[in-house]
Amino acid sequence: MNYLRLFARSVLADLADLVAPPACAACGATFPRRLPLCDLCREHLVAAEDAPPAVSVAWEHGGSLARAVHRAKYGDDPSVAAALGALLVETWRHDGVVDAVVPVPLHPARLRLRGFNQSAELSRALGHTLGAALLFDGARRVRDTPTQTRLDRAARRRNVADAFVASPRVRGARVLLVDDVVTTGATLAALRQACLDAGAAAVHAVALARVPLWTA
Ligand SMILES: [Zn+2]
Repeated sequence: MNYLRLFARSVLADLADLVAPPACAACGATFPRRLPLCDLCREHLVAAEDAPPAVSVAWEHGGSLARAVHRAKYGDDPSVAAALGALLVETWRHDGVVDAVVPVPLHPARLRLRGFNQSAELSRALGHTLGAALLFDGARRVRDTPTQTRLDRAARRRNVADAFVASPRVRGARVLLVDDVVTTGATLAALRQACLDAGAAAVHAVALARVPLWTA
């Protein structure tokens, strides 16, 4: 049964390549392999110098990665974010078991506008690799928060406090949260608290890129 499903998936992937050949998520260059970034864009990734507490993040937001994140977020193609998920698989190197992968949810109004949640698309590869359940409805954003760009650390915390409610499905689970871009980690901290309030056994987080405060 699994082989049949794998075969069907590979046929679908080949069909997808015919319609839209594999392309670099940052510059759009096409190449024959299924990779998130071309060699040139890959070379320009900059290692993150630090990370918010309890968040794994490998790269600074900027250059080719900033272009890729922008395409993943504001383009109309969810496969860009899904391809970038391979970078998250590289970022998450912990050995512990993960039961459930929960992407940072968008407010329903924003989700309707955008058509997809880029963090949900990003989390697919990680869920498959870890053998964890993909809980796209593991948490809801119950309050649409104003943009955080001009807020300092304390204001960001207040801005997202109580913005999330986690589903009872996370009870007892070792949860891994997934975000695209992280700055102070206030959003992930609020979501982490919501998961703990709902009875999650442990909560870690992974993000694709880190933006230093004030340059977000
Ligand atoms: Zn490229």
